[in-house]
Amino acid sequence: MSRTQEKHNRSVSKDVLVVGGGTSGFVAAIAAARNGASVLLLEQRDHLGGTHSGGMVMMIRSMRHMKAPANMEQKKIMMTGYESSFDDEQVVRSIVQEYINRMLEIGSAWGRKDEATARQMFDPEIAKWVIQDMVAEAGVEVWLNTQATDVIMEGNALKGVVIESLRDRVEVHAGITIDTTGDGDIAAAAGAAFEFGSPEDGKCQPASLYFAVGGVQLDKTIAYMRDHANEFGEEYVKTMVGLKEQNKPITMFPFKEKIREALKNGDYPIPYGVETVNPDTLSYIVRPMFRNGKFRYDVTYHNMDMAYNFDATDRVELTKATLAMRDLANKMAKFYRKYVPGYEDSYLSYTAQSVGIRDSRRIVCDYTLTREDVLAGQVFPDGIGRYGSLMDVHDKSGKKSLSLVEVGGHGWFHVPFRSLLPKGIENLMVAGRCISADYDAQGSVRSQAASMVTGQATGTAAALAVQQKRKLRELDVSALQEVLKAQNQVI
Ligand SMILES: Cc1cc2nc3c(=O)[nH]c(=O)nc-3n(C[C@H](O)[C@H](O)[C@H](O)COP(=O)(O)OP(=O)(O)OC[C@H]3O[C@@H](n4cnc5c(N)ncnc54)[C@H](O)[C@@H]3O)c2cc1C
Repeated sequence: MSRTQEKHNRSVSKDVLVVGGGTSGFVAAIAAARNGASVLLLEQRDHLGGTHSGGMVMMIRSMRHMKAPANMEQKKIMMTGYESSFDDEQVVRSIVQEYINRMLEIGSAWGRKDEATARQMFDPEIAKWVIQDMVAEAGVEVWLNTQATDVIMEGNALKGVVIESLRDRVEVHAGITIDTTGDGDIAAAAGAAFEFGSPEDGKCQPASLYFAVGGVQLDKTIAYMRDHANEFGEEYVKTMVGLKEQNKPITMFPFKEKIREALKNGDYPIPYGVETVNPDTLSYIVRPMFRNGKFRYDVTYHNMDMAYNFDATDRVELTKATLAMRDLANKMAKFYRKYVPGYEDSYLSYTAQSVGIRDSRRIVCDYTLTREDVLAGQVFPDGIGRYGSLMDVHDKSGKKSLSLVEVGGHGWFHVPFRSLLPKGIENLMVAGRCISADYDAQGSVRSQAASMVTGQATGTAAALAVQQKRKLRELDVSALQEVLKAQNQVI
């Protein structure tokens, strides 16, 4: 039967609209719905979880405080041990811990019930299922493959968003909208001011496309590392061997000498946007995959700095960088096959569904969290959660090592509610990596646990504001804190 199509116009209305079903967005939607709001969650891709799942970032940093290493040798030992460490105080709980518990029950996260590790490992593939189940159970309506394309404003108040495709034009009206797009797309379109990249030149940290390599014989790789203890560090290799024997998570770093050799032979692929690679400063982490109850040492996940000097909010620049990163993943798999012992029979198993963007817009809110706040372990009267991750800033030029700076004070700082309220705009909150923070502080709060903490706080605040018919800035923040505490969040 042939048919023709007419474009439909329609409008829907919800208490709370969450735009972006990623790391912070799925938690925001669950929190708003559990606190009594009707919620619509929009996601432009075909799965939930964003960078956390489709981006294959398979480690949640840092539900516990993480210390900064003094030097590279210590860094390697500490880093590889953190994934199985229950030391130090746990500062993030509630929905995040509940989610990890569910993943643990089905063998999709490593660890113990009700306790997260300092770097919580999980299976990003199964994460998509667990997230969609939790969101559905909370009663959230989800629209996948749906991109918000415009905002509806009345003066400085956001009234909702527009979704426009060739098939339809939908106006979504909402009491409160939460921008969890990563890039702060909604807030920027609503007229909120933003900061972008580093204060010196506006350039962002490099982006990465996670990829997985299968067919690995890791015992051979480790034997090589043991035989080259001068290069890798005796203590580190010993730690790694011990962890592997107990089927615990391990972290591997670049094979510097192999990279030097490949560079000489013209076999080492150069990242997008830079001229060369320095094996001594390259940020590259390799880990085994955790799946169905154990670490699979025959498949390794690779996270390397791959694309520099581009603007992730510009479609043309993002496309060029994405194509280059996928090409680089394929070439890196070839490099491993040719040069790294244990990888002789390996193959590129898959690349992440979405590219990993570390930073772009940081929306200017009523308060901007600063490097000094993180260094002081600042406590704020309007804190909506604690966070204790290092300020992890990858070098934007590709010439220096990444900078890891430890949180001061108690080893955690408060994320203030004001850092989630875009300055001058009503009915709008931001959560995730685009909250108000300076370049260095964003290096800490961009992490997944903090993104989820801000997601939970915004979802809860949105539901309260709608119920109480109050503006966000009129909310009693101590009442919000009490609700979060009652739901087991640490404030
Ligand atoms: C390579 C890399 C490695 C990292 N490593 C770690 C790590 O090991 N541990 C850690 O804790 N953190 C890590 N991080 C940081 C962390 O993963 C991210 O900062 C965090 O996941 C971002 O969460 P988010 O909710 O802000 O964005 P995302 O999870 O990216 O979610 C944003 C969502 O919004 C959707 N969206 C965007 N625009 C629209 C629109 N207009 N309409 C509808 N949907 C839209 C996107 O499709 C996406 O699903 C890493 C980040 C990167 C990039």
